[in-house]
Amino acid sequence: MDIKQRIIRIIKEYDRIFVFRHERADGDCIGAAVAVRQILKDSFPHKRVLFVDSEDFGMYSFLGSSDEEVPEEEYKDAVAIVVDTANEERISDKRYSLCREIIKIDHHPEREDGRYGTVAWVDPSRSSASEMVAELFLEREGFVIGQEAAEALFTGIVTDSGRFRFNSVSPQTMKITAMLLENGVDTEKVYSYIYLTDCNVLKYNAFIYDNMKITENGVAYVRVTKEDMEKFGLSYDEAAEAVKLLSCVKGALCWIMFIDDVKSSDSKDIRVRLRSRFMPINDIAERHDGGGHAHASGATAHSPEEAEQILAETDESVRKYKSTHEGWM
Ligand code: AMP
Repeated sequence: MDIKQRIIRIIKEYDRIFVFRHERADGDCIGAAVAVRQILKDSFPHKRVLFVDSEDFGMYSFLGSSDEEVPEEEYKDAVAIVVDTANEERISDKRYSLCREIIKIDHHPEREDGRYGTVAWVDPSRSSASEMVAELFLEREGFVIGQEAAEALFTGIVTDSGRFRFNSVSPQTMKITAMLLENGVDTEKVYSYIYLTDCNVLKYNAFIYDNMKITENGVAYVRVTKEDMEKFGLSYDEAAEAVKLLSCVKGALCWIMFIDDVKSSDSKDIRVRLRSRFMPINDIAERHDGGGHAHASGATAHSPEEAEQILAETDESVRKYKSTHEGWM
């Protein structure tokens, strides 16, 4: 029995199912989690399927909202489905551990501390966890994938693939996306929610470009403080989005956003959002309390000096890459 069949068999065995995501929610984990809940509710009306979450979904609120808290007792005979989360530490709600069985569906690279779950389907070649969830249910009879779920999965794929630009996009990503479109995705609506931009954000974007710097070997970077977020009237999540603005600088193979981590209990913490083309950067993130994908990782600098150190290590990585490879731009 292949891994997807095992997942389906476990899901069918349980009458109570809880869905979980990773900390610092993004479009993929919200999209995948909302879709799993919706598909299972529509396909098995007698089952209780819940996505209990302490935060609202921010810019992804158009995909739905979380369920009300339930007594801890309810978790005990249930199965947990954890989407898009490489290691247990990053699961945002620790009540997954109360569940009797755990299903992991993830597309992050395997990590030393990443082994969890009764059954784990991990495929780092995939564009997104949403692509995996879509495939799991689309290729089987008996699962209802309505417009809501299709839009959630489409949102996850679009946001985690940089609008189908990243090299994780495969023919299968496109086939799955085509099937989701057939299930009723309103692309104009989804793109409007994801990409229309408020005026203050556009002004902030101008500030980002104004303050962006480039290291000697080609790392574009910017530093954003709590005061900057306040000045532009932006939430932390909105401000953190701007990392993508640095992605198009010719000659810069890596780009980094350093942003005051206002969600951390230590006010000195700086969240580090690392991105690259051609060369991997997850090794750098892993050395600094982080991890992630080869080309998109996150880390934490616990002091300004550590932020400098991360920048220096990234610059050195770019230098090495450029001196041993051709064909980069
Ligand atoms: P971010 O810039 O924080 O959005 O991170 C980029 C990618 O790296 C996302 O897919 C995150 O799930 C992943 N990531 C971020 N921080 C960590 C961490 N501490 N451990 C593992 N993966 C991470």
